[in-house]
Amino acid sequence: MKTLFSIVLIWFITLASVARDFDNVEIKVTNARANVYMLQGSGGNIGVLATDVGLLLVDDQFAPLATKIESAMKSIVDKELMYIVNTHFHGDHTGSNSHFAHKAPIFAHQKVRERLSNQAAEKSVALPVVTYEQGINIYLSDEQIQLSHFPSAHTDGDTIVYFKKANVLHTGDLFFEIGFPYIDLNNGGSIQGYLTAVRKIIAQMPDDVVIIPGHGKLTNKVRYQAFADMIAYSIKRVSGFIDDGKSKQAILKLGIGENYQHWSWHFITEEKWLKTLIADL
Ligand SMILES: [Zn+2]
Ligand SMILES: [Zn+2]
Repeated sequence: MKTLFSIVLIWFITLASVARDFDNVEIKVTNARANVYMLQGSGGNIGVLATDVGLLLVDDQFAPLATKIESAMKSIVDKELMYIVNTHFHGDHTGSNSHFAHKAPIFAHQKVRERLSNQAAEKSVALPVVTYEQGINIYLSDEQIQLSHFPSAHTDGDTIVYFKKANVLHTGDLFFEIGFPYIDLNNGGSIQGYLTAVRKIIAQMPDDVVIIPGHGKLTNKVRYQAFADMIAYSIKRVSGFIDDGKSKQAILKLGIGENYQHWSWHFITEEKWLKTLIADL
């Protein structure tokens, strides 16, 4: 009984703090380039294309932020929302789908629809209504928005969104500018696949592309390359330790090395990154 009471109490405290946290969140609008903007609140970075005929939204963070996101969007240009893109299924990128779904169609990779459908029994989710396997182009005003899928990377349903005319890329969670990446091994992600995707994206993007990462600040290809180098180094180091027959504990003790320790952050610490590498390599 006492345990049950504690659980309920913790649950209430958690709920209260989550609600309070979202109350205090403000949506910051940053111009990426031309008519493409980055919106930051809590969760994955949002991309907005603002044209004279309407808006396109890339990812939509958590449900309690939906109305704030909508006001921030309309503050750029007061036009109708025309299209929504989900870069992948995680809640910090799709949480406001339920708010926006009745205003515009949601585009995503087929796996995003599948994974969100599986959650539909527990909570109200709005599903993508246009899905694709490899990718799709959306045309809005004079912009061509290219959606391209990369298999087995952060999840199994990742899409990057490239605004061709503006030359701005939204990577979804195929780029954590903030530090070590989260790789969702339980939902089709893989470390090798992640590095392969990142390298392919870098190779196909123009050098002067402006990048909206999944998490972190507005950035560029030089920083993306540094991120790729960090992942390649991590794979090499930990694979080497595994090949040498080192135990998990020994690898955790040896760490990622002084060149890359500073990529540790509160969500993916050095230890968590090493554990992901050990689990997947
Ligand atoms: Zn994310
Ligand atoms: Zn994610």
